[in-house]
Amino acid sequence: MNSAPPEPDEKTDPQSPMKRVDWKDYRDHLTTADKQGNRTWLYPRKPSGTWHRRRAWLSFGLLALLFAGPFIRINGNPYFLFNIVERKFSILGQLFWPSDMAIFAIAMLLFITSIIVFTTAFGRLWCGWTCPQTLLMEMVFRKIEYTIEGDSFAQRALAKAPWTGKKIAIKLTKHAIFFALSWIIGNTLLAYIIGSEQLIQIITDDPHNHITGLSFMTAFTIVFYLIFARFREQACTFICPYGRFMSATIDENTMVVAYDHKRGENRAPWKKAQSIVLRQAEGFGDCVGCRACVAVCPTGIDIRDGTQMECVHCTACIDACDATMDKINRPRGLIRYASLNSIERGEKFKFTPRMMLYLVAITALAGVLAILVFTRTDVETMLLRAPGALYQQLNDGRIENLYTIKLLNKTTRDLEVTLKLEDVEGTISVMGTGELNVPRAALSQTSVLIALDPKHLHGSTLKLRIGVYDAQGRKLETIKTVFVGPRDQHEAREGQKGDHDDKPKRD
Ligand code: SF4
Ligand code: SF4
Repeated sequence: MNSAPPEPDEKTDPQSPMKRVDWKDYRDHLTTADKQGNRTWLYPRKPSGTWHRRRAWLSFGLLALLFAGPFIRINGNPYFLFNIVERKFSILGQLFWPSDMAIFAIAMLLFITSIIVFTTAFGRLWCGWTCPQTLLMEMVFRKIEYTIEGDSFAQRALAKAPWTGKKIAIKLTKHAIFFALSWIIGNTLLAYIIGSEQLIQIITDDPHNHITGLSFMTAFTIVFYLIFARFREQACTFICPYGRFMSATIDENTMVVAYDHKRGENRAPWKKAQSIVLRQAEGFGDCVGCRACVAVCPTGIDIRDGTQMECVHCTACIDACDATMDKINRPRGLIRYASLNSIERGEKFKFTPRMMLYLVAITALAGVLAILVFTRTDVETMLLRAPGALYQQLNDGRIENLYTIKLLNKTTRDLEVTLKLEDVEGTISVMGTGELNVPRAALSQTSVLIALDPKHLHGSTLKLRIGVYDAQGRKLETIKTVFVGPRDQHEAREGQKGDHDDKPKRD
């Protein structure tokens, strides 16, 4: 049987865009895929050491905050809520509404710029130390896996072993725990969107009343289960855009998890009897080729090949190499946080013009954000003339306009609001109850009537400024509107005398 002819590549056809893959060159292929393109499952060795302990402590603190977040209240508001359904947002207990979009946009810009600055200076600290994906994968799911299935070698052996009752029990236990954890993570995400009260209601109430909520709950649980049980490091290498940004933001001054090739090369196994002086005289460096740094890497790369997009700066290779250096009695730090310039030229960390430029941008954005937040009013009032309504002339001759008022209470307390005309004498009456009460974090709408003596009108319209005050007489904001009256004052005066009026009259 004839086999299919080989695909043309750069060797058989110089014009071909196809490149022959060099499987020895790490740049040519993914470490997590074989020659057929199938996924190579990773079994990273259990990390341990100083850096891991530091990360673990920080991770547990951050994860506790992540899971407790929806239940933490500041001034009665969630410390973080991103309710896109009801268009209600809370950051550190401060409520924000769609009308605060400018604040939100500036805050997002500030957040993104800060991450870029941070990446330029310190590489992917975010990924390794604070990203929820890394924290949950490495500090929760991976640790459960080590506890149930054992370290890397035991996991490999279990994967190759036939499906016995014991293997099924181990796998079932692990995946049941993974699924339960994914349910908790999915619910936490849902609570950040709809609020913890609504989430509890969905869980405790009759399921028939919450079909949509339960559907989202199930979808989130399945997505998180698949991410942490199957997709794993691929979320960082294939999906997350941040890793891709990194190549555009880092430079030779950026602190990254790096292998000191000047100290490490050339590699050669360690011989106990050989002194370090002799080893160096023979042209060998400190890397003994133990591959402990590769064995622990959760993304399957070899950091000795240089900074790579897949590296999430988890520091596991630093600890692994330090342990090797301890064993051979060489100084720690063959793999460490370092910039290329510090390794190549021994340069200390320096503040580059690029970092300075980013910092100026951050300071400017922070300034704008501070101004927007501090000048933000407690209420937002919209006063519009009722559509289609004309002015009315009252029996006492005054002119009256009907308005629709919308009051958004951005505070966490109920507000009793009064309106006062600022530059002109007249009356403002609230229709219905006669009062303007706006519940906390809510929008109220009603109608108000403004009546003025026609002597104040110098034309058919008058611009009005109205003060919005709280129950303590504190001015919350000043709003502007337009008052309309008769086209000429003669018409108004005639109307006042009562012998000329074709407009409806009211007492
Ligand atoms: S190279 Fe080192 S720091 Fe980067 S992901 Fe692998 S183990 Fe973590
Ligand atoms: S752990 Fe250190 S000594 Fe061992 S291979 Fe990696 S860089 Fe070399």
